[in-house]
Amino acid sequence: MQILDGKIVSQSVKEKIKEKTILFKNAGNKTPHLAAILIGNNGASETYVASKVKNCEEVGFTSSLIRFEENIEEAALTAAIEKLNNDEDVDGILVQLPLPKQINEEKIINLISPDKDVDGFHPMSIGKMVQGLPTFIPATPYGILLMLEHYKIETAGKHAVVIGRSNIVGRPISILLSRNAYPGNCTVTVCHSRTKNLKEICLQADIIVAALGIPEFLKADMVKENAVVVDVGITRVADVTKKSGFAIKGDVDFVNVAPKCSYITPVPGGVGLMTIAALLMNTFSACENKYK
Ligand code: NAD
Repeated sequence: MQILDGKIVSQSVKEKIKEKTILFKNAGNKTPHLAAILIGNNGASETYVASKVKNCEEVGFTSSLIRFEENIEEAALTAAIEKLNNDEDVDGILVQLPLPKQINEEKIINLISPDKDVDGFHPMSIGKMVQGLPTFIPATPYGILLMLEHYKIETAGKHAVVIGRSNIVGRPISILLSRNAYPGNCTVTVCHSRTKNLKEICLQADIIVAALGIPEFLKADMVKENAVVVDVGITRVADVTKKSGFAIKGDVDFVNVAPKCSYITPVPGGVGLMTIAALLMNTFSACENKYK
């Protein structure tokens, strides 16, 4: 069993972005700039955004953090996004999800300029991704592809089972794994909350992507020997032994599943770190595209 190490791979991706950014700037081009919008005080969202901003600095990008109170009106948020859309210096815009109830998420996502849609959630980006055209790939699925690529994991002809069908993880990764490219060319089964015989389906999988948000859901008796397991789940579970008061749990019962796997991602230290690396890749591309 080999660990798919998000620390090592994300560091290697970031080193490459850092080098590219130096060359890019030395050639007289602008500094890539990511603008992040954070609403309210959700602990997990705060952590994610802080990490995204810190990682921008690490690779030599500019970053802006725009914060709003939980009770922000939709009009104020749309005005802020329009301002960023029109700001020549801003290359990428991300709005940290989830949004408060009074805000229409779909409307907000649709408002972000597709040229600056570094999260890859805009219907234009998704449509291009489905057609295999160059575009921004949603950061978590993109991070998973970078991880599989780094470890040269064979995917062609493999049966991949994706658990979860969300627009940001399950659905896009299922499409990407089925495309005619590497990593890809898998036969993909998408499972969700209404799937019957999930265990039997998982037992047929060469590759399992668990993205459902239920801690330690995937058990050892659901995984065949030598499977590749990618754990996307991130759930905060109360843990009095931790200073923070919680532990981060993935969707896979790691201790018992890992011995059966050929490769497996840990949580933390797996897909989460790759998501940020992929976001940086998209931001660099958004900036580079301005010169094409
Ligand atoms: P979501 O809640 O939008 O979707 C969950 C999906 O799981 C749904 O499609 C649902 O049908 C399916 N599901 C629920 N219960 C199920 C069951 N019993 N059996 C089979 N399928 C079931 O979640 P999401 O936004 O896709 O996130 C999933 C998990 O991934 C969460 O833990 C989230 O925190 C994590 N996440 C991690 C990253 C990262 O960077 N690592 C990024 C995004 C999300």
